[in-house]
Amino acid sequence: MSTTLLGERAIVLGAGIAGTLAARALADHFEHVLVLERDGAPDSDGFRRGLPQAKLLHGILRAGLDCMNRFFPGFEQELVDGGAVPCRSARDVLFVDALGPWPQQDTGVEVPLASRAFLDRVLRRRLLGIRNVELRGELSAQGLIAEGDRVLGVTCRAADGTLTRELADFVVDATGRAAHTAEWLESLGFDAPEETRVEVDLGYACCFVRPRTSPPLLGAVVTEPPPHGRFGAAVNAQEGERMIVGIATRGRDISLPEDYASLLASAERLPHPAPFELMRDAEPLSRVARFGFAASVQRHYERLTRLPSGFLCIGDAICSFNPVWGQGMSVAALEVAALADMLAERSGDAATLESLPAAFYAEAARIITTPWQLSVGPDFAYETTRGDRPPGLAAGRGYSRALARLAMQDPDVRGLLTDVYHLVKPREVLFAPELLARVQPLMAPG
Ligand SMILES: Cc1cc2nc3c(=O)[nH]c(=O)nc-3n(C[C@H](O)[C@H](O)[C@H](O)COP(=O)(O)OP(=O)(O)OC[C@H]3O[C@@H](n4cnc5c(N)ncnc54)[C@H](O)[C@@H]3O)c2cc1C
Repeated sequence: MSTTLLGERAIVLGAGIAGTLAARALADHFEHVLVLERDGAPDSDGFRRGLPQAKLLHGILRAGLDCMNRFFPGFEQELVDGGAVPCRSARDVLFVDALGPWPQQDTGVEVPLASRAFLDRVLRRRLLGIRNVELRGELSAQGLIAEGDRVLGVTCRAADGTLTRELADFVVDATGRAAHTAEWLESLGFDAPEETRVEVDLGYACCFVRPRTSPPLLGAVVTEPPPHGRFGAAVNAQEGERMIVGIATRGRDISLPEDYASLLASAERLPHPAPFELMRDAEPLSRVARFGFAASVQRHYERLTRLPSGFLCIGDAICSFNPVWGQGMSVAALEVAALADMLAERSGDAATLESLPAAFYAEAARIITTPWQLSVGPDFAYETTRGDRPPGLAAGRGYSRALARLAMQDPDVRGLLTDVYHLVKPREVLFAPELLARVQPLMAPG
């Protein structure tokens, strides 16, 4: 083994976004990286059972894309070369919320619009081009193998039920929102992490379409205003000269559209006609895919005082966000970037891996803070949202509303807001003294 490496073998569980990027990062520091994925190969449209969300609208944020470009140079260009549609969302997509339609203006932030299946396909192809990475499908991780406080590997089950053991110097669990990490740790005598839960009771129904005429916009996002609003619609251009159209609902008592006619009917009730018109002037290419998302959940591994060495979890396994805010893939990518930096700092000194899980969870919690506030804050404006309220919610909402009003009039403030939303700048820039002095007078008294 080279003296600069941290170990002979690393294992990654799950080949979603977090797992694919984590495997790429680990490949620089371990002789061999084995990725174990429960699913077999995707079908001809790029879909697979473990990723039902791939049939639903996905947007990526600038910061997430920057990380993907770091791990796979030229990744974004490859998406565009394959048909993804470059989009300056503040200019090319119409946003309508409680304040009405936002002016369409160029804030400079550009991201390509692409389906989740296409994004996954390109990422996976790039991963499989890495010499020391091996992907094995149809193997489901069942639990951890440990000795004392050290994880030594995993047990996994093949499709025919056969159980096998795979040993490694380091294991990363990227099995997503339904990860069994907490139970696995408990079975080894560790505590399970505390959870913060925000019940959003979201329903999502989406369909790929082909526009009959050249659409006037690359997309539209329209939501019914809080607190009583229940419906929202989003339309985005996609690779293959298609668009994806979607309806999101809030509340358990709302039935989700089942077919294109009911998708259209839901769009027609919205306060702005743009999504309805884009949907009406298009031909459906797929069945309507539906998804229920009960709650945003953050698992606080950073609060655990005792952790096993040689093991950590990442991505949705730590925190899964209400999908309407389009943050999960980008947060996963930012977490992997932090992991890559920590591995590089420890390069060649395997003993320093001991301290990595605690340091990583602390950094992951810091990364999660801004997107969590950006999503649960607006979620709690809706009467259907229940759960753990962040402190200072009412004051924060008043400030955000006043800031949004200012941003509608001032392109520089809009630019700042866009950068924060895309996780390119920290949320603190929105509270800089000069901005605070302009926003506070616009806040409603009290
Ligand atoms: C409806 C919906 C819409 C979304 N929209 C967006 C969006 O617009 N933008 C955005 O950024 N994010 C969005 N997300 C979130 C995004 O999909 C995730 O945050 C992102 O994919 C990161 O997830 P992950 O890689 O941690 O887990 P996942 O993507 O869930 O991947 C987990 C992988 O682990 C595999 N697996 C599971 N269990 C095992 C096991 N025991 N053994 C081996 N393999 C296993 C699964 O098959 C899967 O491949 C959306 C999510 C949903 C549900």
